[in-house]
Amino acid sequence: MPAIASSKSYRVGRSKTGLGLFATKPIKKGTRIIRYFGPILDSRIPAHDEIENKYLFELNGRWTIDGSVRKNLARYINHSCRPNAESDVRPRERKVFIRAIKNIEPGDEINYDYGTDYFKAYLKPIGCKCESCEKKRKKLRAEARAEAAKVKARKAKKVVAKGSKSKAAKKKKLNGHAVAKVGGRARA
Ligand SMILES: [Zn+2]
Repeated sequence: MPAIASSKSYRVGRSKTGLGLFATKPIKKGTRIIRYFGPILDSRIPAHDEIENKYLFELNGRWTIDGSVRKNLARYINHSCRPNAESDVRPRERKVFIRAIKNIEPGDEINYDYGTDYFKAYLKPIGCKCESCEKKRKKLRAEARAEAAKVKARKAKKVVAKGSKSKAAKKKKLNGHAVAKVGGRARA
């Protein structure tokens, strides 16, 4: 057991959306990290076709991997719109490997893109919680806040401008008055 554990470069851990898979060692770009495995389902067998869970990995029109088995730790890998890994799907071998597409540092969560169909069906309706989408949302919120602050500042400036105009006007009058009274003419 320890030998296997120490050769592993990942562990299951807490992520923002529940559990996730995290790197425990540096993983080089291009490396196979883990195999996504489970019983192979044949869509031509009615009993297979009836199986429904959220860990079904479709290889092609006929073959699907049922990844819901406990030993399949790859099922913990969450989706990301800007992932550091990808699924290497080999329909002929009926195998799927998760491979690094970036250098991954220890502690990084491992993600791959679940694809457009999954995104549209499951993630879009509830809002994708991946880091990239969270960042985008944060940026939009910050922009909205900045815009609101700008509008507020413009309004405040207008008020100040109005106030200072009348003050300036008063000052001018006063100065004019003072100049006229205390100015050279009076002494002259
Ligand atoms: Zn996303």
